Amino acid sequence: MDINEVKKIVTDTAASAGKKVGEVANKTKIKFALANLQSDLDELYEKLGKLHYDAISTGVNNGTKESAVITKIDSIKSDMEVLKAEVGVFPKAGKVCSECGKSIPKSSAFCPYCGKEIDS
Ligand SMILES: [Zn+2]
Repeated sequence: MDINEVKKIVTDTAASAGKKVGEVANKTKIKFALANLQSDLDELYEKLGKLHYDAISTGVNNGTKESAVITKIDSIKSDMEVLKAEVGVFPKAGKVCSECGKSIPKSSAFCPYCGKEIDS
């Protein structure tokens, strides 16, 4: 699967969050996208580890490159949160905290991660 295809599923999922989607085909697609994102994530962690290793062993500062990889990792992780919410990691998921960006149960009055009050 192409990363743009994954992005599209994430976008579609985010757009439909809170609505009744719940179709098996859609869930299969999402799980497939999650697996793809997970392998991207593993690759990025590996890359980050290598950059860090090189930095320490050679004394070269890879801070900028490492930051770029970390930004990608964060973006993939937040995409995965949206997808996981949709496939029922939180059964009543459908909202994303405006403060920390994590997926939270639809019924939450406060974010369970950062404590921000959630507008309904
Ligand atoms: Zn939060």
